[in-house]
Amino acid sequence: MADATAPFCISGATGEWEVVVGLEVHAQITATASKLFSGAATAYGAEPNTQVSLVDAAMPGMLPVPNRECIRQAVRTGLALDAVINRWSRFDRKNYFYADLPQGYQISQLFHPLVGEGEVEILLDENDEATARRIGIERIHVEQDAGKLMHDQHATMSYVDLNRCGVALMEIVSRPDMRSPAEAGAYLRKLRAILRYVGSCDGNMEEGSMRADVNVSVRRPGEPFGTRTETKNVNSVRFVMATIEHEARRQVDLIEEGGTIVQETRLFDPDRGVTRALRSKEDAHDYRYFPDPDLLPLELDEAFVEECRASLPELPDAKRKRYEGVGITPYNAAVLTAEVETARWFDALLEAGAAPAQAANWVAAELFGALNRLGKSMEECPVAPASASELLGLVADKTISTTLSKQVFEIMLETGEGAAEIVEKRGLKQTSDTGAIDAAVDQVLAANTDKVEQYKSGKPQLFGFFVGEVMKAMAGKANPQVVNERLRAKLD
Ligand code: ADP
Ligand code: MG
Repeated sequence: MADATAPFCISGATGEWEVVVGLEVHAQITATASKLFSGAATAYGAEPNTQVSLVDAAMPGMLPVPNRECIRQAVRTGLALDAVINRWSRFDRKNYFYADLPQGYQISQLFHPLVGEGEVEILLDENDEATARRIGIERIHVEQDAGKLMHDQHATMSYVDLNRCGVALMEIVSRPDMRSPAEAGAYLRKLRAILRYVGSCDGNMEEGSMRADVNVSVRRPGEPFGTRTETKNVNSVRFVMATIEHEARRQVDLIEEGGTIVQETRLFDPDRGVTRALRSKEDAHDYRYFPDPDLLPLELDEAFVEECRASLPELPDAKRKRYEGVGITPYNAAVLTAEVETARWFDALLEAGAAPAQAANWVAAELFGALNRLGKSMEECPVAPASASELLGLVADKTISTTLSKQVFEIMLETGEGAAEIVEKRGLKQTSDTGAIDAAVDQVLAANTDKVEQYKSGKPQLFGFFVGEVMKAMAGKANPQVVNERLRAKLD
């Protein structure tokens, strides 16, 4: 894999180029079951046109009523991104005609967005704080989604599904602060993690609850920004990265051939990994934006904002630092906080009394390994944190060895029995009984006289072999420390 932290440059025929990226992320507010200005449902995958109110269908005389919970979730999201919350904001109409937009305009926010400047910190290499970068957030505004057109396979008929019409979106606009596909990928993953911690958006890119418009330009290092293109509606982290790679290369080639970049809207074709022109880019004035006369400005009082702030959970960065503070390695801390389900599960494990560093190693190696083998996600984790804590406790107090704990864990997964119960019922308790251990040591040394000779004549690495044999002879139940001591006593 390429080093994500190396400066990313594109070599053209005439020298090096730098890529500049800004992302506009549309995140659906999935925390509420109804739309931004109507009570219609927003469930994914419903029959077409079954979740459409008269407001969404733009019947004459219908009036929009803001969904308080949507505003609350957008404010919580803004606070989680360290952003300014604008206590006074306003909705505007963005006018355009399309068959999936019965109103003839989208209610959005242009002039006075709900959320102002903020930032997201990304870490390109979990083991190295020096690879941290701050990506600026320009604004977050709240707006309605449009419906969806579907075309039959003979391309003779088109159908419209208005279910998504009026669904609440947060448009999270970054500054043009990213300089490589890897930075854009890290930003999107981090943003998605924060949204999922906050709970405002489920971040499900397959279901379209998060998608990105990818703005890309190239320039000579140190020169002013070049003209950008905007690739619309890219719906996975991988595709966003591929869009940037392809688009930057295309722009460099075009400029070097003497062409100029036109500001335009493009589409990413995932099958071919290329972008293609869709239309020349329109400017804000083409949309004849004006304040929506059906809606009063939004005025938030301090108590509302403070309630939003108080409702925020511990966020990924704070959690990662807390984990590092209790002796968890930076790598494990990053892995354990990357997904909210993992972090919640791990917090419950710590609350159940597990020792942090040991627990982190166990989750990263044993639990993730098991989930992987079982093809299960963290949400479907078959062991409860309390049961795992019991298992780790048995290792910590030396009732069982680490080696044996792997077997016990397997049995837990198979039978659902508790760790202590398994150890008790199957007689797996670790023994420090020197009589039994000495007997096993003697037996192993007697059966391997050749290796004992080699060891004594200068092959210390054979020590591990003897330990392994003694453990085997004792069915894994001997206390490894005692085995070490007794072997040393007899051999050295
Ligand atoms: P619009 O609403 O027309 O798309 P904005 O000014 O809101 O335009 O910018 C949209 C996005 O484009 C932002 O994410 C911003 O960071 C990004 N952007 C602006 N200029 C550039 C540039 N020269 N290269 C790459 N991205 C850019
Ligand atoms: Mg845009």
